[in-house]
Amino acid sequence: MPSSLTGSEVRYRVHLEEALCDGCRLCLPLCKQGALIWVRAERELLLDPWACDGCGACVTACPNGALSLHTRGNP
Ligand code: SF4
Ligand code: SF4
Repeated sequence: MPSSLTGSEVRYRVHLEEALCDGCRLCLPLCKQGALIWVRAERELLLDPWACDGCGACVTACPNGALSLHTRGNP
């Protein structure tokens, strides 16, 4: 982590690896930002990157490693 960044400035975004997601939906109730959206007709999880605040709650809940945190805005 660059030393010029303080803790409050570090922001993360979540990446959804769709191929690893089996649709268990354990992550859904943990997202307080409404960034995880279950599309019932498609049986598919969608991620709204604009709504995600990078809290990481969903990442720890996923049993399949389909969700991961990455730094946002870092070149
Ligand atoms: S917890 Fe993981 S496998 Fe389950 S719906 Fe969420 S991303 Fe998909
Ligand atoms: S990191 Fe937090 S805000 Fe972003 S999708 Fe996961 S639970 Fe929602």
